[in-house]
Amino acid sequence: MASLPFISVNEPILDGNEKKYLAECIDTGWISSEGPFVKQFEQSFAARVGRNFGISVSNGTAALDAAIEAIGIKTGDEVILPAFTIISCVGQIVRVGALPVLVDSDPITWNMDVAQIESRITNRTKAIMVVHTYGLPVDIDPVLDIARRHGLKIIEDAAEVHGQTYKRKPCGSFGDISTFSFYSNKLITTGEGGMIVTDDSSLAETCRSLRNLCFLPHKRFVHERLGWNLRMNNLQAALGVAQLERLDELVARKRRMGRRYTELLNGLSGVQLPLARTETAENIYWVYGLVLDDAMGFDAEEAMRRLTTKGIGTRPFFCPMHWQPVLKSMGFFADEHYPAAERLYRQGFYIPSGMAITDDQMNRVAEAVIEVLR
Ligand SMILES: *Cc1c(COP(=O)(O)O)cnc(C)c1O
Repeated sequence: MASLPFISVNEPILDGNEKKYLAECIDTGWISSEGPFVKQFEQSFAARVGRNFGISVSNGTAALDAAIEAIGIKTGDEVILPAFTIISCVGQIVRVGALPVLVDSDPITWNMDVAQIESRITNRTKAIMVVHTYGLPVDIDPVLDIARRHGLKIIEDAAEVHGQTYKRKPCGSFGDISTFSFYSNKLITTGEGGMIVTDDSSLAETCRSLRNLCFLPHKRFVHERLGWNLRMNNLQAALGVAQLERLDELVARKRRMGRRYTELLNGLSGVQLPLARTETAENIYWVYGLVLDDAMGFDAEEAMRRLTTKGIGTRPFFCPMHWQPVLKSMGFFADEHYPAAERLYRQGFYIPSGMAITDDQMNRVAEAVIEVLR
Protein backbone atom coordinates (compact mmCIF):
# COMPACT_ATOMS: atom_id res chain seq x y z
CA MET A 1 0.00 0.00 0.00
CA ALA A 2 2.69 2.49 1.03
CA SER A 3 4.16 2.49 -2.47
CA LEU A 4 0.91 3.60 -4.11
CA PRO A 5 0.59 7.34 -4.71
CA PHE A 6 -1.14 9.38 -2.01
CA ILE A 7 -4.78 10.17 -2.85
CA SER A 8 -5.32 13.82 -2.07
CA VAL A 9 -8.58 15.00 -0.65
CA ASN A 10 -9.30 17.28 -3.59
CA GLU A 11 -8.20 17.74 -7.17
CA PRO A 12 -10.12 19.98 -9.60
CA ILE A 13 -10.88 19.33 -13.27
CA LEU A 14 -9.77 22.11 -15.62
CA ASP A 15 -9.88 20.46 -19.03
CA GLY A 16 -12.71 22.43 -20.69
CA ASN A 17 -12.22 25.96 -22.05
CA GLU A 18 -10.18 27.06 -19.04
CA LYS A 19 -6.85 27.17 -20.90
CA LYS A 20 -8.34 28.83 -23.96
CA TYR A 21 -9.96 31.65 -21.98
CA LEU A 22 -6.86 32.16 -19.84
CA ALA A 23 -4.79 32.44 -23.03
CA GLU A 24 -7.25 35.09 -24.23
CA CYS A 25 -6.56 37.12 -21.09
CA ILE A 26 -2.84 36.94 -21.67
CA ASP A 27 -3.04 37.57 -25.42
CA THR A 28 -5.22 40.64 -24.92
CA GLY A 29 -3.46 41.92 -21.81
CA TRP A 30 -6.73 41.98 -19.84
CA ILE A 31 -5.72 40.54 -16.48
CA SER A 32 -7.25 42.98 -13.95
CA SER A 33 -10.82 43.22 -12.69
CA GLU A 34 -11.60 45.53 -15.63
CA GLY A 35 -11.37 42.63 -18.08
CA PRO A 36 -14.44 41.40 -20.00
CA PHE A 37 -14.68 37.92 -18.42
CA VAL A 38 -15.57 39.50 -15.07
CA LYS A 39 -18.90 40.94 -16.29
CA GLN A 40 -19.56 37.86 -18.39
CA PHE A 41 -19.05 35.58 -15.39
CA GLU A 42 -21.24 37.77 -13.16
CA GLN A 43 -24.07 37.84 -15.67
CA SER A 44 -24.00 34.18 -16.60
CA PHE A 45 -23.64 33.06 -12.98
CA ALA A 46 -26.53 35.26 -11.79
CA ALA A 47 -28.66 33.98 -14.67
CA ARG A 48 -27.85 30.38 -13.79
CA VAL A 49 -29.03 30.94 -10.21
CA GLY A 50 -32.06 32.90 -11.42
CA ARG A 51 -31.01 36.20 -9.85
CA ASN A 52 -30.96 39.73 -11.26
CA PHE A 53 -27.48 40.69 -10.08
CA GLY A 54 -24.12 38.99 -9.60
CA ILE A 55 -21.20 40.74 -7.94
CA SER A 56 -17.94 38.83 -8.18
CA VAL A 57 -15.44 39.11 -5.33
CA SER A 58 -12.06 37.73 -4.35
CA ASN A 59 -13.33 34.78 -2.26
CA GLY A 60 -16.36 33.34 -0.48
CA THR A 61 -15.40 34.86 2.87
CA ALA A 62 -15.24 38.30 1.26
CA ALA A 63 -18.67 37.66 -0.25
CA LEU A 64 -20.09 37.01 3.25
CA ASP A 65 -18.29 40.04 4.74
CA ALA A 66 -19.70 42.34 2.07
CA ALA A 67 -23.17 40.76 2.29
CA ILE A 68 -23.33 41.28 6.06
CA GLU A 69 -22.15 44.87 5.72
CA ALA A 70 -24.53 45.55 2.81
CA ILE A 71 -27.69 44.36 4.57
CA GLY A 72 -26.76 46.67 7.44
CA ILE A 73 -25.88 44.40 10.36
CA LYS A 74 -24.73 46.74 13.13
CA THR A 75 -23.47 46.81 16.71
CA GLY A 76 -25.98 45.16 19.02
CA ASP A 77 -27.83 43.28 16.28
CA GLU A 78 -28.19 39.51 16.41
CA VAL A 79 -27.76 37.09 13.52
CA ILE A 80 -28.91 33.47 13.78
CA LEU A 81 -26.68 30.89 12.10
CA PRO A 82 -25.67 27.24 12.45
CA ALA A 83 -23.09 26.30 15.09
CA PHE A 84 -21.68 23.78 12.61
CA THR A 85 -20.12 25.96 9.91
CA ILE A 86 -16.96 27.69 8.78
CA ILE A 87 -15.51 30.70 10.60
CA SER A 88 -16.13 32.82 7.46
CA CYS A 89 -19.80 33.05 8.50
CA VAL A 90 -19.15 34.86 11.78
CA GLY A 91 -16.15 37.08 10.97
CA GLN A 92 -17.95 40.23 9.89
CA ILE A 93 -20.84 39.73 12.34
CA VAL A 94 -18.34 39.86 15.20
CA ARG A 95 -16.27 42.69 13.69
CA VAL A 96 -19.25 45.06 13.52
CA GLY A 97 -20.10 44.26 17.14
CA ALA A 98 -23.17 42.15 16.42
CA LEU A 99 -23.94 38.87 18.19
CA PRO A 100 -23.82 35.51 16.41
CA VAL A 101 -26.64 33.35 17.80
CA LEU A 102 -26.19 29.65 17.17
CA VAL A 103 -28.51 26.82 16.21
CA ASP A 104 -27.60 23.14 16.52
CA SER A 105 -27.38 20.67 13.61
CA ASP A 106 -29.78 18.04 12.39
CA PRO A 107 -27.79 14.84 13.06
CA ILE A 108 -29.01 13.20 9.85
CA THR A 109 -28.66 15.94 7.21
CA TRP A 110 -25.85 17.80 9.07
CA ASN A 111 -27.61 21.06 8.18
CA MET A 112 -28.96 23.51 10.74
CA ASP A 113 -32.02 22.18 12.57
CA VAL A 114 -34.57 24.72 11.37
CA ALA A 115 -37.04 23.73 14.12
CA GLN A 116 -34.69 25.41 16.62
CA ILE A 117 -34.53 28.79 14.88
CA GLU A 118 -37.66 30.45 16.19
CA SER A 119 -36.76 29.98 19.86
CA ARG A 120 -33.53 31.91 19.23
CA ILE A 121 -35.27 35.05 17.92
CA THR A 122 -35.22 38.17 20.13
CA ASN A 123 -36.15 41.78 19.43
CA ARG A 124 -32.53 42.33 18.35
CA THR A 125 -32.52 39.62 15.69
CA LYS A 126 -31.94 41.12 12.24
CA ALA A 127 -31.10 38.18 10.02
CA ILE A 128 -30.87 34.42 9.65
CA MET A 129 -27.85 33.01 7.87
CA VAL A 130 -28.51 29.65 6.26
CA VAL A 131 -25.54 27.54 5.21
CA HIS A 132 -26.20 24.61 2.88
CA THR A 133 -23.77 22.03 4.19
CA TYR A 134 -21.71 19.43 2.29
CA GLY A 135 -24.10 19.20 -0.67
CA LEU A 136 -27.61 18.98 0.80
CA PRO A 137 -29.75 22.13 1.01
CA VAL A 138 -31.16 23.43 4.27
CA ASP A 139 -34.95 22.90 4.55
CA ILE A 140 -35.47 26.51 3.53
CA ASP A 141 -39.25 26.94 3.20
CA PRO A 142 -39.81 27.01 6.99
CA VAL A 143 -36.90 29.47 7.32
CA LEU A 144 -38.42 31.79 4.71
CA ASP A 145 -41.70 31.60 6.58
CA ILE A 146 -40.06 32.48 9.92
CA ALA A 147 -38.17 35.35 8.28
CA ARG A 148 -41.36 36.73 6.75
CA ARG A 149 -43.29 36.55 10.00
CA HIS A 150 -40.54 38.23 12.03
CA GLY A 151 -39.33 40.70 9.41
CA LEU A 152 -35.84 39.20 9.22
CA LYS A 153 -33.37 39.20 6.34
CA ILE A 154 -31.97 35.95 4.95
CA ILE A 155 -28.30 35.60 4.11
CA GLU A 156 -27.80 32.37 2.16
CA ASP A 157 -24.31 30.85 2.10
CA ALA A 158 -24.37 28.61 -0.98
CA ALA A 159 -20.60 28.02 -1.15
CA GLU A 160 -21.03 24.23 -1.15
CA VAL A 161 -24.02 23.83 -3.45
CA HIS A 162 -23.37 25.26 -6.94
CA GLY A 163 -25.89 23.60 -9.22
CA GLN A 164 -27.94 22.19 -6.32
CA THR A 165 -31.68 22.83 -6.07
CA TYR A 166 -34.29 22.87 -3.31
CA LYS A 167 -37.72 21.83 -4.60
CA ARG A 168 -36.30 22.39 -8.10
CA LYS A 169 -35.31 26.00 -7.40
CA PRO A 170 -31.60 26.84 -7.49
CA CYS A 171 -29.70 27.16 -4.22
CA GLY A 172 -28.53 30.75 -4.14
CA SER A 173 -31.99 31.99 -5.17
CA PHE A 174 -33.44 32.07 -1.64
CA GLY A 175 -31.57 34.75 0.29
CA ASP A 176 -32.23 38.48 0.29
CA ILE A 177 -28.54 38.16 -0.46
CA SER A 178 -26.77 34.89 -1.30
CA THR A 179 -23.09 34.07 -1.57
CA PHE A 180 -20.83 31.54 -3.26
CA SER A 181 -17.15 30.57 -3.08
CA PHE A 182 -15.04 29.37 -5.99
CA TYR A 183 -12.14 28.06 -3.94
CA SER A 184 -10.41 25.14 -5.63
CA ASN A 185 -12.34 22.48 -3.73
CA LYS A 186 -15.78 23.89 -4.58
CA LEU A 187 -18.05 22.52 -7.31
CA ILE A 188 -16.80 25.14 -9.72
CA THR A 189 -13.58 26.95 -9.07
CA THR A 190 -11.62 30.04 -10.02
CA GLY A 191 -8.71 29.07 -7.72
CA GLU A 192 -9.80 31.76 -5.30
CA GLY A 193 -13.02 33.66 -5.86
CA GLY A 194 -16.54 34.39 -4.73
CA MET A 195 -19.89 35.78 -5.86
CA ILE A 196 -22.74 37.67 -4.25
CA VAL A 197 -26.15 37.33 -5.91
CA THR A 198 -29.35 39.24 -5.20
CA ASP A 199 -32.49 40.58 -6.88
CA ASP A 200 -32.31 43.89 -4.99
CA SER A 201 -30.69 46.59 -7.12
CA SER A 202 -29.76 48.77 -4.17
CA LEU A 203 -28.12 45.86 -2.30
CA ALA A 204 -26.25 45.02 -5.52
CA GLU A 205 -25.08 48.62 -5.84
CA THR A 206 -23.88 48.66 -2.23
CA CYS A 207 -21.97 45.40 -2.72
CA ARG A 208 -20.32 46.72 -5.90
CA SER A 209 -19.25 49.80 -4.02
CA LEU A 210 -18.01 47.91 -0.94
CA ARG A 211 -16.03 45.57 -3.19
CA ASN A 212 -14.22 48.50 -4.79
CA LEU A 213 -13.19 50.63 -1.79
CA CYS A 214 -16.40 52.67 -2.09
CA PHE A 215 -14.86 54.92 -4.70
CA LEU A 216 -17.45 57.58 -5.58
CA PRO A 217 -18.33 57.41 -9.28
CA HIS A 218 -17.90 61.15 -9.80
CA LYS A 219 -15.27 61.98 -7.17
CA ARG A 220 -12.92 59.08 -7.44
CA PHE A 221 -10.68 59.57 -4.42
CA VAL A 222 -13.38 60.83 -2.11
CA HIS A 223 -15.01 58.21 0.15
CA GLU A 224 -18.23 58.43 2.14
CA ARG A 225 -18.02 54.87 3.42
CA LEU A 226 -15.22 52.39 4.13
CA GLY A 227 -15.10 49.50 1.71
CA TRP A 228 -12.53 46.87 0.83
CA ASN A 229 -10.66 45.83 -2.27
CA LEU A 230 -12.42 42.52 -2.91
CA ARG A 231 -12.21 42.56 -6.69
CA MET A 232 -12.03 39.38 -8.75
CA ASN A 233 -9.60 39.60 -11.67
CA ASN A 234 -10.11 38.64 -15.31
CA LEU A 235 -7.95 35.49 -15.04
CA GLN A 236 -10.15 34.15 -12.24
CA ALA A 237 -13.31 35.11 -14.12
CA ALA A 238 -11.99 33.37 -17.27
CA LEU A 239 -11.74 30.16 -15.25
CA GLY A 240 -15.20 30.83 -13.84
CA VAL A 241 -16.80 31.22 -17.26
CA ALA A 242 -15.21 27.97 -18.44
CA GLN A 243 -16.22 26.09 -15.29
CA LEU A 244 -19.79 27.41 -15.35
CA GLU A 245 -20.24 26.13 -18.92
CA ARG A 246 -19.92 22.60 -17.53
CA LEU A 247 -21.65 22.95 -14.17
CA ASP A 248 -24.26 20.28 -14.98
CA GLU A 249 -21.57 17.81 -15.95
CA LEU A 250 -19.59 18.59 -12.79
CA VAL A 251 -22.66 18.11 -10.59
CA ALA A 252 -23.35 14.80 -12.34
CA ARG A 253 -19.75 13.71 -11.65
CA LYS A 254 -20.11 14.50 -7.97
CA ARG A 255 -23.40 12.62 -7.76
CA ARG A 256 -21.81 9.65 -9.42
CA MET A 257 -18.92 9.80 -6.98
CA GLY A 258 -21.31 9.92 -4.02
CA ARG A 259 -23.37 7.00 -5.28
CA ARG A 260 -20.26 4.94 -5.90
CA TYR A 261 -18.80 5.56 -2.44
CA THR A 262 -22.17 4.66 -0.92
CA GLU A 263 -22.26 1.40 -2.90
CA LEU A 264 -18.73 0.56 -1.78
CA LEU A 265 -19.31 1.45 1.88
CA ASN A 266 -22.94 0.44 2.33
CA GLY A 267 -23.47 -2.04 5.12
CA LEU A 268 -20.23 -1.11 6.86
CA SER A 269 -21.15 -0.95 10.52
CA GLY A 270 -20.11 1.79 12.89
CA VAL A 271 -20.34 4.63 10.43
CA GLN A 272 -23.02 7.01 9.12
CA LEU A 273 -22.81 7.83 5.41
CA PRO A 274 -24.15 11.00 3.76
CA LEU A 275 -27.89 11.03 3.10
CA ALA A 276 -28.54 10.31 -0.60
CA ARG A 277 -31.61 12.53 -0.71
CA THR A 278 -34.15 14.44 1.30
CA GLU A 279 -37.75 15.21 0.31
CA THR A 280 -36.48 18.37 -1.37
CA ALA A 281 -33.17 17.49 -3.00
CA GLU A 282 -30.72 14.84 -4.21
CA ASN A 283 -27.31 15.12 -2.55
CA ILE A 284 -24.57 16.59 -4.75
CA TYR A 285 -21.85 15.42 -2.33
CA TRP A 286 -19.69 18.55 -2.28
CA VAL A 287 -17.66 16.37 0.05
CA TYR A 288 -18.26 12.75 1.03
CA GLY A 289 -18.41 12.80 4.82
CA LEU A 290 -18.34 9.92 7.29
CA VAL A 291 -19.55 10.11 10.90
CA LEU A 292 -18.29 7.38 13.22
CA ASP A 293 -20.61 5.79 15.76
CA ASP A 294 -19.77 6.69 19.35
CA ALA A 295 -19.33 2.97 20.03
CA MET A 296 -16.48 2.77 17.51
CA GLY A 297 -13.90 3.21 20.25
CA PHE A 298 -11.96 5.92 18.42
CA ASP A 299 -12.79 9.32 17.02
CA ALA A 300 -12.42 11.05 13.65
CA GLU A 301 -8.93 12.29 14.46
CA GLU A 302 -7.71 8.73 14.99
CA ALA A 303 -9.50 7.46 11.86
CA MET A 304 -7.90 10.23 9.79
CA ARG A 305 -4.46 9.40 11.22
CA ARG A 306 -4.88 5.75 10.27
CA LEU A 307 -6.08 6.64 6.77
CA THR A 308 -3.10 8.95 6.23
CA THR A 309 -0.75 6.06 6.92
CA LYS A 310 -2.59 4.17 4.16
CA GLY A 311 -2.03 6.99 1.70
CA ILE A 312 -5.53 8.47 1.88
CA GLY A 313 -6.10 12.19 2.33
CA THR A 314 -8.86 13.33 4.68
CA ARG A 315 -10.15 16.53 6.25
CA PRO A 316 -11.91 17.05 9.58
CA PHE A 317 -15.49 18.32 9.74
CA PHE A 318 -16.11 21.91 10.89
CA CYS A 319 -15.25 22.75 14.47
CA PRO A 320 -18.44 24.35 15.86
CA MET A 321 -18.44 28.09 16.42
CA HIS A 322 -19.03 27.86 20.19
CA TRP A 323 -15.78 25.89 20.50
CA GLN A 324 -13.66 28.40 18.56
CA PRO A 325 -10.92 29.68 20.88
CA VAL A 326 -10.95 33.11 19.23
CA LEU A 327 -14.69 33.55 19.83
CA LYS A 328 -14.62 32.10 23.36
CA SER A 329 -11.79 34.48 24.28
CA MET A 330 -14.03 37.36 23.15
CA GLY A 331 -16.68 36.21 25.61
CA PHE A 332 -19.08 34.57 23.18
CA PHE A 333 -21.03 31.35 23.82
CA ALA A 334 -20.01 30.82 27.48
CA ASP A 335 -21.64 27.60 28.71
CA GLU A 336 -23.49 27.03 25.44
CA HIS A 337 -23.79 23.51 24.10
CA TYR A 338 -24.83 22.19 20.72
CA PRO A 339 -24.54 18.42 21.10
CA ALA A 340 -25.21 17.46 17.48
CA ALA A 341 -22.63 19.91 16.14
CA GLU A 342 -20.12 18.82 18.79
CA ARG A 343 -20.60 15.20 17.85
CA LEU A 344 -20.21 15.91 14.12
CA TYR A 345 -16.88 17.58 14.88
CA ARG A 346 -15.69 14.77 17.13
CA GLN A 347 -16.81 11.88 14.95
CA GLY A 348 -16.92 13.33 11.41
CA PHE A 349 -14.40 13.72 8.60
CA TYR A 350 -14.41 13.48 4.85
CA ILE A 351 -12.58 11.31 2.37
CA PRO A 352 -11.16 12.26 -1.07
CA SER A 353 -14.07 13.83 -2.94
CA GLY A 354 -12.47 16.04 -5.58
CA MET A 355 -13.85 16.44 -9.07
CA ALA A 356 -10.93 14.51 -10.62
CA ILE A 357 -11.21 11.38 -8.45
CA THR A 358 -11.17 8.14 -10.44
CA ASP A 359 -13.02 4.86 -9.87
CA ASP A 360 -9.71 3.16 -8.99
CA GLN A 361 -8.96 5.80 -6.41
CA MET A 362 -12.45 5.44 -4.91
CA ASN A 363 -11.93 1.68 -4.70
CA ARG A 364 -8.64 2.20 -2.85
CA VAL A 365 -10.21 4.77 -0.50
CA ALA A 366 -13.15 2.49 0.29
CA GLU A 367 -10.87 -0.49 0.92
CA ALA A 368 -8.78 1.58 3.30
CA VAL A 369 -11.86 2.92 5.11
CA ILE A 370 -13.22 -0.63 5.51
CA GLU A 371 -9.87 -1.85 6.89
CA VAL A 372 -9.58 1.05 9.33
CA LEU A 373 -13.13 0.75 10.62
CA ARG A 374 -13.32 -3.01 10.89
C1 LIG B 1 -15.60 27.52 1.37
C2 LIG B 1 -16.66 28.16 2.18
C3 LIG B 1 -16.64 29.52 2.52
C4 LIG B 1 -15.43 30.38 2.30
O1 LIG B 1 -15.05 30.54 1.01
P1 LIG B 1 -13.55 31.00 0.67
O2 LIG B 1 -13.61 31.24 -0.80
O3 LIG B 1 -12.64 29.88 1.04
O4 LIG B 1 -13.28 32.24 1.45
C5 LIG B 1 -17.72 30.06 3.18
N1 LIG B 1 -18.77 29.31 3.52
C6 LIG B 1 -18.82 28.00 3.25
C7 LIG B 1 -20.03 27.23 3.66
C8 LIG B 1 -17.77 27.37 2.59
O5 LIG B 1 -17.81 26.05 2.35
